[in-house]
Amino acid sequence: MEQLYTGSCHCGAVKFEAKVDLAEAFTCNCSLCSKKNAVIARIPEDSFKLVEGEEHLGLYQWNTKRAKHYFCKNCGIYTFHRPRSAPEKYGINIACLDGVDARSLDVPTLDGAALSLES
Ligand SMILES: [Zn+2]
Repeated sequence: MEQLYTGSCHCGAVKFEAKVDLAEAFTCNCSLCSKKNAVIARIPEDSFKLVEGEEHLGLYQWNTKRAKHYFCKNCGIYTFHRPRSAPEKYGINIACLDGVDARSLDVPTLDGAALSLES
């Protein structure tokens, strides 16, 4: 079920709101997601709102440089990204959502290594 969550990076400079269905969360085995060990959910653009901290966002791009991976420049935490394969969506770092224990979720692994979906 979709629910509205507030989320933030570790230092709190970046704050956002996201409507997320935790049942749709997944991990990805591409080289970047593996290192981040991130649990991700993809949501439509209008389900995401950056509340604070646009000026603190750093952008990381690699490979085809089409995806946009954002992180807090102050604390280094990955907060959200725009997927290459679905640029109209936001990928959300579930671990950044308030009150959600991302590691307690039983999530499938997306074969991003084969598809390079998150690059
Ligand atoms: Zn931060």
